[in-house]
Amino acid sequence: MASSAEVVQPASELQPAAAPPLTPAWGGAGMAPVGPSLTPVSPWGRVSPAAPQSAPPKSFHELMSEDLAKDLQQKETQAYHLSLLNEEEDYSDFIKPQEEVANDLYLAQVLQYEYDREYDEQVNREEKLFNGNSKVSVSFNKFKICPSWYGPDSDDEPREIDDENRAIDSFEAREREDPVIPACGYIKHGDKMVTKHDLAISGRKNAARIMNLPPGINTGDGGGFDMKLSNKVYNKLCRSAMSDLRRKNRVHDKVEKATSEMALDPKTRLLIFKMLNNAVLEALNGIVSSGKEAVVFHAQGGEMDDGPLPEDCAVKVFKTTLTDFKTRERYIREDYRFKDRISKSNSQKLIRLWAEKEYHNLRRLHRAGIPSPKPVLIKKHILVMSFIGADHMPAPKLKEARLSKAELCVAYEQVVETMVKMFHGCHLVHADLSEYNILWFEEKCWFIDLGQAVEPTHPHALHFLHRDCTNIIRFFQSKGVPELPSPLKLFEQVSGISLPGPEDAAHRMIEEYETHQELWREGMNNLSDQFEFLWQEIQAEERQCKGLKKEDDDDEEEELEEELLKELVASERKEDLGDECSGGAAGVVCSGGGEPAGAEGSFSTKHSPTNEGNKGGVKWVEKQAKKKKSKNRKNK
Ligand code: ADP
Ligand code: MN
Repeated sequence: MASSAEVVQPASELQPAAAPPLTPAWGGAGMAPVGPSLTPVSPWGRVSPAAPQSAPPKSFHELMSEDLAKDLQQKETQAYHLSLLNEEEDYSDFIKPQEEVANDLYLAQVLQYEYDREYDEQVNREEKLFNGNSKVSVSFNKFKICPSWYGPDSDDEPREIDDENRAIDSFEAREREDPVIPACGYIKHGDKMVTKHDLAISGRKNAARIMNLPPGINTGDGGGFDMKLSNKVYNKLCRSAMSDLRRKNRVHDKVEKATSEMALDPKTRLLIFKMLNNAVLEALNGIVSSGKEAVVFHAQGGEMDDGPLPEDCAVKVFKTTLTDFKTRERYIREDYRFKDRISKSNSQKLIRLWAEKEYHNLRRLHRAGIPSPKPVLIKKHILVMSFIGADHMPAPKLKEARLSKAELCVAYEQVVETMVKMFHGCHLVHADLSEYNILWFEEKCWFIDLGQAVEPTHPHALHFLHRDCTNIIRFFQSKGVPELPSPLKLFEQVSGISLPGPEDAAHRMIEEYETHQELWREGMNNLSDQFEFLWQEIQAEERQCKGLKKEDDDDEEEELEEELLKELVASERKEDLGDECSGGAAGVVCSGGGEPAGAEGSFSTKHSPTNEGNKGGVKWVEKQAKKKKSKNRKNK
């Protein structure tokens, strides 16, 4: 048995296994008084007076010998290893000062633990004293030594998880075999000193803890063998589980967002709910299509004041998100029918206008007897029309329909016929005509998706028409329909405008044509008579549409009205207490069928100009009108 004290003892004087002098780990030999008559005392123990004392080195040269140093080092290492391997060794008496101590490192650690624990206890006492009975307490944990080993972000220590929730039998069984480490961080287990850093114990603990991680982390059959996880691995798993959870939450958010992108934001849901509640719709069934701009549902028609709705309805809900709207603007902004309104509208209204546009275009087609959905109802950005298809299934698009050669020829003839009818009879160019916007139903081609259809007077109408013709010719060509004209020839056939020049110059020619509006109008002479008629019709439509829009905006108007009334009453009370009230109970008479006070001043109050002697009212109405204007501006 050797002790580090020997380091300073010359080899010749060493008395190995017999009774080594007990000296402190940190070179206590020099500190301990040495001599036969004195009992040397060290912090670790008392040196037995019986122990023979080593003789001092004989010479300085001997003392400095490298061989001696090496020899001593070797002996010490051997002894240390022996002490670790020796199972018989009893560490229980470490702290008994009288006995021999073999491993200074252990001794130092044990004492350090002891010391730290005592220190922490002292901190605890001071914490208690400081906080007293106060409800708000200050934690002194920062000053403790032990908690720093448990730092939650430390990679060396595991995160604490509620122990009660661990319910894995095999893990628990194994855990029960392991000693419970007290707060001081170590315990004597059998004949071993076990610290909280014990790899096997903490590994098992971590393995049991992973069962508390959220589902989805594939742990394998951890209970089937003695699984151990290092703190590092466990903490990494924890972190990955957490980021996984966060990602999942984000996905959930996305799903929420997706429903709004499907145009079914709460406002839309409310509008549909109202339709169902009013029995305008009997039932709303599944989604028929979800495109970039709109979602189409199948619905069962109900009743309206002016009669029953078709049994099968298509409900087209235009998306209220604006991402794809830039492209739509082009079709609507330059359509003279909507020109005045567009400048005043905000983007939300633009979408409504788009829906409205499709409604009106469909009406024209329907009136002209063109196979197309019958428009039934327009409510903000929701368009209800008749359903083209059977058994809740929409009719196939021309793209998908399986047509025989003969049917394809018939289809082509029908498409051309419809285009001509649209141009001359409805004064419309589809502007998005292709095999995707034509349904094949009951041996007929049905034109749908009329939102972007424009009047021929639209600055790009001819360009759109040529594009439609190109799409149609390309499709039927791909299906092998014989004797098809060129797109430019079809353009001529439909519009009646013949453009000189080859096909590849069509774009340039059309552009020129369009830029020379005068020339264009001359070319459209044959349409000018119709134009007047159509203009009248459009005006009538606009009036009707305004009626519909008014109804749509009723809610907002009502709110505004209520607010105005409240303000009016309040301002009256303030300004004219004691004045004679010539109006209603609140001094307000609302004229013009509930129209809100605007620049026209449809509210008359007891202060209104008609009520002589009260000029403040005029100002008030003006003020309110201004307020309303600024509010409208804000809304935009
Ligand atoms: P988008 O702007 O999304 O292209 P569409 O009006 O073309 O909107 O409608 C998308 C799809 O919904 C169509 O391809 C068709 O399958 C179906 N659909 C639209 N309207 C009707 C209708 N009235 N009857 C049956 N199906 C319809
Ligand atoms: Mn479409």
